[in-house]
Amino acid sequence: MRSVKGMAELLLVEDDPVIGSALRDSLGSYGHRVRWARTGTQALQYVAEARADLVLVDLGLPDLDGIEVTRRIREAQPDVVIVVLTARREEIDVVVALDAGADDYLTKPFRLAELQARLRAHLRRGLARELAGDGRPLAVGPLEVDVAARRCRLGGSEVELRPKEFDLLARLCAGAGEALSRETLMADVWDEHWFGSSKTLDVHVGALRRRLAAAAVAASCEPPAIATLRGHGYRLERPEPTGT
Ligand code: CA
Repeated sequence: MRSVKGMAELLLVEDDPVIGSALRDSLGSYGHRVRWARTGTQALQYVAEARADLVLVDLGLPDLDGIEVTRRIREAQPDVVIVVLTARREEIDVVVALDAGADDYLTKPFRLAELQARLRAHLRRGLARELAGDGRPLAVGPLEVDVAARRCRLGGSEVELRPKEFDLLARLCAGAGEALSRETLMADVWDEHWFGSSKTLDVHVGALRRRLAAAAVAASCEPPAIATLRGHGYRLERPEPTGT
């Protein structure tokens, strides 16, 4: 699985001049085009002007709260990948940032090699191509995941998912009925060289459960169940065939 494009449009949102210039230079040297916003306000202006493939958001900004910036970037560009950078130690900030629309996070200080590995993982579309297979949607009970079109339907109604939620659901669907280990899910959906905590996985599973439950109510059908396998990972349950 490789990135399908060498150069990406990155938006860096970082007020610290030393960290910001180091990140801009190193990401630029990897061949990405980098715009650098020093404030949250400037970041929102940039996002309104042009699309980006990926946004790196420092949570500690001088003008706006980084979580609020994340939320507004997600609203403006539903498909962009957002990675938050945080110096905060509290896990709660990470959870709030993921809930606000971030796809991933890095805790400062981080190594540039780690950042680059994450970006590579986020920018590739290899998993989607692999799962798209013969182009037919994956179906589990009333759930239908069309990887080629990146659409998800439950009971015929469209379900809106964030990019990583979609990838995770597609991976679970591809292995429906199978126990999938945390390592497998992290490797396939995020990166094969995962450095950080896998809390990201649990938060995304939680979000998927909520979205599917809400969609099931709207479509008057049973939501597909994602079972937690303690000490192992997750399994998307195949529904029992109805005996009518
Ligand atoms: Ca800062």
